[in-house]
Amino acid sequence: MNNPDDGSGPIAVAVVGSGPSGFYAAETLLRRHPNLHVDMFDRLPTPFGLVRGGVAPDHPKIKQVSLVFDKIARSPAFTFFGNVEIGRTLTIEQLRSAYHAVVLACGASADRRLGIAGEDLAGSHTATEFVGWYNGQPDYRDRVFDFSGEHAVIVGQGNVAGDVARILATPVDDLRKTDIAEHALDSLAGSRIRDITLIGRRGPAQIKFTPVELKELGQVRCCAALAAAEDLNLGASCAAEISDHRGDDAKKNVTLLRGFASAAPAGSGRRIWFRFLEAPVRINGTDRVKSVTLAKTRMEGPPFGQVAVATAQTHDLTCSLVFRSVGYKGVAVPGLSFDERAGIIPNLKGRCLYGDDPVPGVYVTGWIKRGPTGIIGTNRADSVETVESVLEDLPKMRSAPKAGAAALEASLRAGGGRIVSYGEWQKIDGSERSRGQARGKPREKFTIVGEMIAAIDAEAT
Ligand code: NAP
Repeated sequence: MNNPDDGSGPIAVAVVGSGPSGFYAAETLLRRHPNLHVDMFDRLPTPFGLVRGGVAPDHPKIKQVSLVFDKIARSPAFTFFGNVEIGRTLTIEQLRSAYHAVVLACGASADRRLGIAGEDLAGSHTATEFVGWYNGQPDYRDRVFDFSGEHAVIVGQGNVAGDVARILATPVDDLRKTDIAEHALDSLAGSRIRDITLIGRRGPAQIKFTPVELKELGQVRCCAALAAAEDLNLGASCAAEISDHRGDDAKKNVTLLRGFASAAPAGSGRRIWFRFLEAPVRINGTDRVKSVTLAKTRMEGPPFGQVAVATAQTHDLTCSLVFRSVGYKGVAVPGLSFDERAGIIPNLKGRCLYGDDPVPGVYVTGWIKRGPTGIIGTNRADSVETVESVLEDLPKMRSAPKAGAAALEASLRAGGGRIVSYGEWQKIDGSERSRGQARGKPREKFTIVGEMIAAIDAEAT
């Protein structure tokens, strides 16, 4: 068996997905092994995953992490293959035969469903659709949102729900200075939405916002964040949670919400309402959303294990838009096991499992490994763990040299699509920045793959 440093060519690793977990995996692989090449594949011509397509346009500081990823991508031991979809252009089996190791960092692109009647009515959307739409993500650019009504209801109280609420509430003139997609700006400019209600099935101590994000919801210009004081009286189990060190964030959140409860409603501005202990049981309407039926819930279980149990007490909340923001879900990868309930690929420290046995040479990191939790930085430690597994296994897996992308040239060509290199992405990037500059924005994204390719070709001529 060859030893990793025996001179028979570099270790070839394929990383599938160019979001934070993929880049952190690439960074660690390149730092920890002197003779290794990373090929990173993404189905879009543009890298950075949710940093580009998910992070809210009014959060430019969070997007700056792409500077770190850019530095990794410039390493001579790194090659980007954009516009290549694994599962369509190439199979996992092809990657396995061309690379010593394949690291799947493909995130969690599906949505959890509420499983209630009316969920698919016109006017009921997933948060994913809305976030993708305002961020100019090609899959969602054609979505249409009707902002002619005055009340939008958001189901869920996590940071994605917070982003949706903030974008709906923010005066459009404040959004003009961001990299929000132009189509979203045009549509939001005509919005008549005045009230935005965030519904939590559990109590104020169990909301999933991070305190920084919750605080921000109270700082939107011309908008009041509001909660009912009586909803913020905590029972014994909730009081126990916030007095425990594990409840530090919850304690800060409850303090912020108490501040919202004492705020005066804004005169003519928008309002963000926080409601608790209510779960949607039905979305009503004939051709489109007219209201949502909510059941009062009660909490059961010990501190930190409390669940919401619906009661028979219900009421209707009139609204014209519903956003379901109840978490993402991973998508099965053909040929690999999948845990439907958790929405992840079963794994042991990043080693993909088939039953109890590791699948040789195949690894996962990020949301497809642990589920859709944590902030961008959480992916760094997660990817380090996976890379440690890869490096530990190298002596076992390196029985023959692997040619990497060179072995896949014919299949890549047969795929028909234009493969986009990192240098070509930089041309798209430059072009988007110039378009943005003309509009006083940091960038104006291309929202159609064909436009991105045309921008590359225009630079070349
Ligand atoms: P999340 O944090 O898991 O929040 C999901 C919310 O939906 C929770 O309030 C949850 O309540 C609720 N929910 C789930 N199932 C429900 C049901 N059947 N009925 C009613 N409510 C239901 O998920 P997320 O907001 O999608 O965020 C995903 C991850 O991305 C998180 O780690 C988040 O912090 C991160 N993120 C971070 C930022 C940032 O840092 N700026 C921005 C966006 C996203 P329960 O608690 O009762 O389950």
